[in-house]
Amino acid sequence: MNPSDPALRSFIAVDPSSDFPIQNLPYGVFFTPERPQLRVGVAIGDQILDLAALESAGLIRCDEGHGTFAQPSLNAFMALGPQVWRRTRARISALLRHDNPELRDNAALRRQALVPQRLAQMHLPIAVQGFTDFYSSKEHAFNVGVMFRGKDNALTPNWLSIPIGYNGRASTVVVSGTPIRRPRGQLRPPTADAPTFGPCQRLDFELEMGVVVGQASAMGDMLTAEQAEDMIFGFTLLNDWSARDIQQWEYVPLGPFQAKAFGTSISPWIVTREALEPFRVHGPPQEPPPLPYLRQARPNNYDLHLAVDLKTEQIAQAAGISRTNFRYMYWSSVQQLVHHASSGCAMNVGDLLGSGTVSGPDKGQRGSLLELSWNGTEPLELEGGVRRTFLEDGDSLILRGWCQGDGYRIGFGACEGTILPAG
Ligand code: CA
Repeated sequence: MNPSDPALRSFIAVDPSSDFPIQNLPYGVFFTPERPQLRVGVAIGDQILDLAALESAGLIRCDEGHGTFAQPSLNAFMALGPQVWRRTRARISALLRHDNPELRDNAALRRQALVPQRLAQMHLPIAVQGFTDFYSSKEHAFNVGVMFRGKDNALTPNWLSIPIGYNGRASTVVVSGTPIRRPRGQLRPPTADAPTFGPCQRLDFELEMGVVVGQASAMGDMLTAEQAEDMIFGFTLLNDWSARDIQQWEYVPLGPFQAKAFGTSISPWIVTREALEPFRVHGPPQEPPPLPYLRQARPNNYDLHLAVDLKTEQIAQAAGISRTNFRYMYWSSVQQLVHHASSGCAMNVGDLLGSGTVSGPDKGQRGSLLELSWNGTEPLELEGGVRRTFLEDGDSLILRGWCQGDGYRIGFGACEGTILPAG
C-alpha cells in the first residue's frame, strides 16, 4: 500500500490535529535522559519510533552489517539513496499499521522502541555540510526592493533569470529550541558619518523552508531537474535570523555576511519529499521563461501552509503575526538545486538550502518583520499596547508548517528560538 494513502491507520492513536500521522513519518535525531546515545527516530502522533532499536531487533535493515540509525545524524541513511529511502518508509509504515502484529503485539519491543516525545530531547537532524540561502519569493524581493531602491527598481535586473543565492554558514545552523544571542556588528545608520561596533538594533527573522540534500553530485557535473529532484531527501522549517542594520552597511557589493552568519534555526523533523507528494502544485507562472537548463516539466511547488507566532515577555499568549504558503515561491527547490550545481559546484550529502523568505501577496502574508513593520515605520500592535518593529531581548519566534489532507495533516512540528541579550 502507498505509505501516503489517506486511508492508512496506525495502532498508535493519532489526533487529527497532530502533525505526525502515519502518512507523514518525518525523521529526526534524539536522545533520552536514560539513554543518552543519539539515534534516529520517526515521529508518530506524540511518540517517537526509535529506528535504532528496530534495527538491532532485526525489524528494519538498510545497510547490511552497518548501524544506519544508531547515528548522531541522518547523513549515513541519506547517503544510501532514494531507493533505500522509499523502501524504508514503506517498511516503517507497514510496521505502524493497525493491522500488522509485528510491533503492535510485541510488548517488550514496544516498550523499547516507542518513546514519548515529551521525554526526548531533539538534536540537529543532519550534519550540515554547506548552507546556501536563496532569495526566491518575488513578493519578498519586491517588498525589500521597494524599501531600499524604490518601486521602479524593486527587482534587480537578474532576479527573473536567476534563483539568486549566497553561500551561508553551516557552522551556526542549530536545532529548534536553541537560544539565539543578539549579534554584534558594524552599524552605520543613514544619519551617522562613521560606523560604530555594537549590538544589532534591528534584529529580524526570516520565514523559510529548508531543503535537505541527501545525495552528492560530482564537481563539474550539471544536474537535470529530474536528477535534482531525486537528490532532495526532504524539507524542514528554517528561520534565517537577520541583523538588518548590520546587513544594510555591509552588503555592498558582495551581499550579506555577518548579518546572517550568527544563527539559523531549523525544525527537528525532516519531512520527506515523498510525504509531501500529494500536495504538489504549480508555482506562479515564470515570465520571461527561464533559460533551458532551468526549465521543469513537473509542478515542483507544494501547498504548504506556514504560520509565524511571536511571544514576548509582556504578553500572555503568543500572537500570530504572519500566515502564508510555500506555494507562492517563484523559483522551486528543484530549480535552485539545478542552478546551484550548474557552474560545476559539487553538492554534498547534508547540504542545506534555504528557500529564501516566504512572503505572499497580502500584508498578513509577509515572512519578515522588515516587511511586516515596513522597515520599522508601521509597528505591529500586540495585546496590552505592546508594539514591535524588530525583535527585542526575550522575544521568542515560533514557525509552523503543514499540508492539510482530508482528515489529517502532514506537519513539521515547531521551529522556535528565543533572543538572548548581546552580552
Ligand atoms: Ca534568507
